[in-house]
Amino acid sequence: MLRVAVIGAGVNGVACAIKILEHYQDEKKTNVQVTIISDEFTPNTTGDGSAGLWGPYLLGGTDESKVHKWSRDMHLFLEKIWLSEDAGEAGVCLIPCVRLSTDPNASVGEFWRDIVYGAVDLTAEQLTAYNKNRDIKFTSGLSFVTYTSEPVKLLPYLTKRFVRRGGRIEQQKVTDLETFVRDSPYDVIVNCTGLGSRQLLNDDSMYAVRGQVTRIKANWVFTAILDESDVGNYIIPNTESVVLGGTHQVKDYSTKVCETDKRFIIDGCRSLMPALEHTQHLFDWVGLRPGRDQLRLESERRGRKLLIHNYGHGGSGVTLAWGCADDVLSLLVAAQIKSHL
Ligand SMILES: Cc1cc2nc3c(=O)[nH]c(=O)nc-3n(C[C@H](O)[C@H](O)[C@H](O)COP(=O)(O)OP(=O)(O)OC[C@H]3O[C@@H](n4cnc5c(N)ncnc54)[C@H](O)[C@@H]3O)c2cc1C
Repeated sequence: MLRVAVIGAGVNGVACAIKILEHYQDEKKTNVQVTIISDEFTPNTTGDGSAGLWGPYLLGGTDESKVHKWSRDMHLFLEKIWLSEDAGEAGVCLIPCVRLSTDPNASVGEFWRDIVYGAVDLTAEQLTAYNKNRDIKFTSGLSFVTYTSEPVKLLPYLTKRFVRRGGRIEQQKVTDLETFVRDSPYDVIVNCTGLGSRQLLNDDSMYAVRGQVTRIKANWVFTAILDESDVGNYIIPNTESVVLGGTHQVKDYSTKVCETDKRFIIDGCRSLMPALEHTQHLFDWVGLRPGRDQLRLESERRGRKLLIHNYGHGGSGVTLAWGCADDVLSLLVAAQIKSHL
């Protein structure tokens, strides 16, 4: 029996757990047991307050070619769900999206525009419409179609899929990873603890990127609009509410709602879409993105055990989850071939 523990029940932990379990079961290798071990579960993970919009963002110096592969895999995974009868339950929606830039030297989505559907640069006429009443003008923009997969729906859906296949779940905080790897019965440990890795591994290259958002009721908003500039706002529709954003404060660990940020979000989004003035405020939310110099996805040998790290997904944990899970599985399979784990 191969025993696998995935630590962390955020979008990355759950994606890895299901990817590993489904792989071995589809290969008819039933002597593999996968357990998710975590101190928090949905709806209390970092992704649960996010809109879950597909789009690489805040990834430090992570290699672009890897980000391209991981995010493409997730897009294909979402496409598969969207085409299935599970789309509603999983909260996967196909939405039009416009990303706008104020940087005359930037080209929006240069390295990922081939992944989304129908990407076209905005015309000068379209930009003029977005620039009405603005001091700092948008100089370029990209219009395309992509997915949202709001984790507050995607996580329960994936967890159910995992449990249905015989996956196990345990609530536990791992306080000492070395001891856990050495003394627990697991042969393979996958570390998906997000920002928790800062403490668990004394990883100083990890830091919080604080994000505050506001949720409103506005059923008539169908298009996501994002200002790519550093002080930009965004509007992203989800199934039952619309997310207005947002902040990205590096090394800020406060999870309290800040009134100044709230004002910035509401005023900024209204300037992008004036009709938002007539909407109902639902609630405000703060999350700490797991920022890192670069995403860490690699394995280490600990005696006859294998420890795989998969954390530091910054502002793109949802966007990269399925692609990263695929690489985690490849590391596991490669280690098995080499050493008969
Ligand atoms: C405001 C905001 C908006 C965002 N919008 C988007 C978006 O639109 N699209 C997108 O792709 N991304 C978005 N993100 C980023 C995304 O939410 C994160 O990158 C993602 O949630 C990280 O997932 P994770 O599974 O790696 O970590 P987490 O979700 O943080 O999960 C970590 C898990 O590990 C557990 N854990 C930690 N330490 C321990 C321990 N010692 N023992 C046991 N368990 C432990 C935790 O309880 C948790 O279950 C947004 C983030 C914020 C804050």
